[in-house]
Amino acid sequence: MLNSFLLLAEAVLYFGVMVTLFRFRDRIGLGVFVCALGVMHFLETYLASVFYVALPFGMVSPGSAVLFSGKLVMLLLLYVKEDAATVRQPIYGLLLGNGLMIGLVLVLRLHGISPLPNGKLPDIGFIDQMGWLMVWGTTLLFIDAILIILLYEKLGRYLRKALFSRILISVACVLTFDQAGFFTALHFVAGAPIAVFFGGWFAKMGAALAYSIMLVAYIRWFEARQIPAPRGLSDIFDTLTYRERYEALVEHVGRDGLTGLLHRGRFDSDGEAAVAASLRTARPLSLLIIDVDHFKSINDRFGHAEGDKVLKSMAALLGEIVGREDQVFRIGGEEFAILCSRPHPVARLLGESIRHAVKASASTSRFDITVSAGISTVSETTRCLADLFALADQRLYKAKSTGRDRVVGEPGGHQADGLAARARPDRGLGG
Ligand code: GH3
Ligand code: MG
Ligand code: MG
Repeated sequence: MLNSFLLLAEAVLYFGVMVTLFRFRDRIGLGVFVCALGVMHFLETYLASVFYVALPFGMVSPGSAVLFSGKLVMLLLLYVKEDAATVRQPIYGLLLGNGLMIGLVLVLRLHGISPLPNGKLPDIGFIDQMGWLMVWGTTLLFIDAILIILLYEKLGRYLRKALFSRILISVACVLTFDQAGFFTALHFVAGAPIAVFFGGWFAKMGAALAYSIMLVAYIRWFEARQIPAPRGLSDIFDTLTYRERYEALVEHVGRDGLTGLLHRGRFDSDGEAAVAASLRTARPLSLLIIDVDHFKSINDRFGHAEGDKVLKSMAALLGEIVGREDQVFRIGGEEFAILCSRPHPVARLLGESIRHAVKASASTSRFDITVSAGISTVSETTRCLADLFALADQRLYKAKSTGRDRVVGEPGGHQADGLAARARPDRGLGG
């Protein structure tokens, strides 16, 4: 009876202090809460490996019943009130911190240790046992934390209004799973008897109930903000596993630093794949190569920084004009390429609208910018990207040599560029 009462008192103390730190996170920073959580982790594992008390239904450790269950509930709170990107930080931190601890202990053991004046020698051996238990514990916690969040979200669909049941079921299910996992290790490492499993499980169910009541009360009374609507499960999982960061990185690599467009390397790989796909599926694919006319003179007259600004606005303009399926690349200093999944006449119209848009935007700036473009489309004679590129490049060259400010495509096509170019002969920039 006393033992049960003490366990409950410990849970209330733990919960009370932790949510107080959480409550004032805006003022003192979330780091305080997270650090406190980390410190408790050490005590928790130590207690779970050696500190047991007898309850009517079996042996219970405050380490798992109070501290571990509490930690899981704190992670759930962190998720409910913050987000998955935040909750994954302590989860990964605990896992990696434990790895570091094991590593350090391996080195510590190599010391020649001096006894203290009272003759006591440290017992570092207990860390051998506990250390691996901690690693196993955090690995389990990692799975538990992801599980509890997924379960909590899944239940949100059915129990949107019933926050208490939603939290209780999530916590109870995951603690049951955890008890099975942790006991197995405890049994083999520390020789824990089966009474520890049942004692621990009953105690964890009691903890689930007590913590759920306290958590709901806390959220209702102290956290005024609304509980957000259920989110997509795969989204959350991606966030928890740092996937979205990885994908952003992958997306970032392959981009040109100045304009943010895909760079030459991506053009070579994506272009080759697009040509192969077009040949296989007979879907149209056109390539536009766009080159700024007399760009060097902008650099010469206004400086490289101004030139850079022009390139950036060119990139922005291309991004606005091309369709969502089309890809824009910066393949050289002032040369851009567009892979467009449309037949030749449509690609040509796209080229014309780019040419017009550049002129229109140039009329409002102090530079008189024009572009030339060469266009090619995958045909029977195309074998690879190089073929497609050579043809577009040849046409770009033709556009340059016949007066610039024009779009050149397949011979015999409609030459919409001729008139405009003739009305404004090649006169360079800024004139
Ligand atoms: P053309 O009409 O024949 O294309 O003339 P052009 O001056 O545009 O052609 P050219 O290829 O001779 O010059 C391109 C210039 O682009 C040369 C180089 O100094 C400049 N350039 C290349 N990369 C950058 C860049 O990142 N920023 C700036 N500001 N200029 C660049
Ligand atoms: Mg140029
Ligand atoms: Mg050039």
